[in-house]
Amino acid sequence: MRRVRVMKFGGGAVADGKKIKTVANLIRQSKEETEEKGSNGLVVVTSAIFEITDILHENASRVAKEGDVEKVKEFVNELKNRHETAASEAIGNKHVLNVVKKEIEERVGGMEKALVGICLLGELTARSLDYIVSFGERLAAPILAGTLQSMGMDAVHLTGGDAGIITNANYGNAQLTSDAEETIRGRIMPLLDDNKIPVVSGYMGETKNGITTTLGRGGSDYTATIIGAAIDADEVWLWKETEGIMSADPRIIRNARKIPYISYMEAMELSYFGASILHPRAIEPVMRKRVPIRVKNLLKPEDTGTLIGEEPEKTEKAAKAITLIENTSIINIAGAGVRSISDVAARIFSVLADEGVEVIMISQGSSERNISIIIESAQLERAIGAIQRINAEGTVIRDFTSNSDVCAMSVVGAEMAGTPGVAGEIFSALGNGGISIIMISQGSSEFNISFVVKKRDAYKAAQAIHDMFEMGM
Ligand code: ASP
Ligand code: MG
Repeated sequence: MRRVRVMKFGGGAVADGKKIKTVANLIRQSKEETEEKGSNGLVVVTSAIFEITDILHENASRVAKEGDVEKVKEFVNELKNRHETAASEAIGNKHVLNVVKKEIEERVGGMEKALVGICLLGELTARSLDYIVSFGERLAAPILAGTLQSMGMDAVHLTGGDAGIITNANYGNAQLTSDAEETIRGRIMPLLDDNKIPVVSGYMGETKNGITTTLGRGGSDYTATIIGAAIDADEVWLWKETEGIMSADPRIIRNARKIPYISYMEAMELSYFGASILHPRAIEPVMRKRVPIRVKNLLKPEDTGTLIGEEPEKTEKAAKAITLIENTSIINIAGAGVRSISDVAARIFSVLADEGVEVIMISQGSSERNISIIIESAQLERAIGAIQRINAEGTVIRDFTSNSDVCAMSVVGAEMAGTPGVAGEIFSALGNGGISIIMISQGSSEFNISFVVKKRDAYKAAQAIHDMFEMGM
């Protein structure tokens, strides 16, 4: 059986030609190292060059609004120059460089056509937006593959679709189809059998009809774990410019510390709850196949990073990490006496789902028949519109209020399950700090305890809990 490692590099890792060279060296080193250990393959997944995805998003909307074809040309030229510069810096071999430059030119040309189309129509659909924003990864992969080639490695670049990432047409947040894994194996394994290094464009996939889709922001992680699961890789390594998964956001908590080992379930809770280190869906594919993930630090490649695996660690620490989602809003809905609480809840969640509003937390107070939900503030207006429509055909809810001055927080740790007193400790830490709690919820997995405080109390609350559980030690 083949043993393979999948390695993914984020946008910061491939920010310019010099960094791309560093990445290529890491790939070479990893290839040699894994070969020594009897492994015989490496799959590389790349993000777009740093900030390119943001730039593409901004420009696609701007172009649709302004309809200025000249400006499209200007933008396309800038984009082309930036990628050509990176290629020239990274690729030593003249012949390879010329091939890559041609590739860049062709790809950028395709994007220009699409942008001009959007310009003339003055309309940006979700489908055309996905096509445009996929160009960051479409352009990065040939440059990285070319760099590897010019260092003597046999690399080939693939788009998400080439690699078999076949998805539904849910643009902006596409889901893998059920037979995609087989397609991925069929595309990747022959390359590995041929001793090639596939360099796959992350973040993007395509429908079975060949229409480009994207997997959601930060989706290159997800590409890597999808491929890792599909080909039964030994490990998936996600290279980032951070130490690994941390006990808290180091920008907020002064003594935040790297967590050396964490279970899939815990990592999943953290990524769903605001820790921007991993794409929220990235854990799911590898968890099924028990492929370990390693989050590695580009700035300290020899560091072991964070290992994510199946078993919860045997530890004294019940609570391991704290995360917060800062831009949240609470909506309190009162239904008293009008309908049964399940009826009210059913209506609320169905209108929110129809509007694509993601609910982060729910809690229900039965005596007042009141339901509180937490959502991202960016979706508040949409949520309110949806809730207002509930009463259109007869009264279901009595009243509702909303407040954006709140922050949702979550304490995560597998050992919290069945350990009495953890919630007590969390809430005394908050009580001692004079912080009042607006809402509480705990999933029955007991892997997290989540609560909501006023925005101005959030950092203090996080520090108090981090200290209470000695998360930094
Ligand atoms: N380039 C994409 C983004 O910025 C995907 C990724 O970086 O993982 O969201
Ligand atoms: Mg990124």
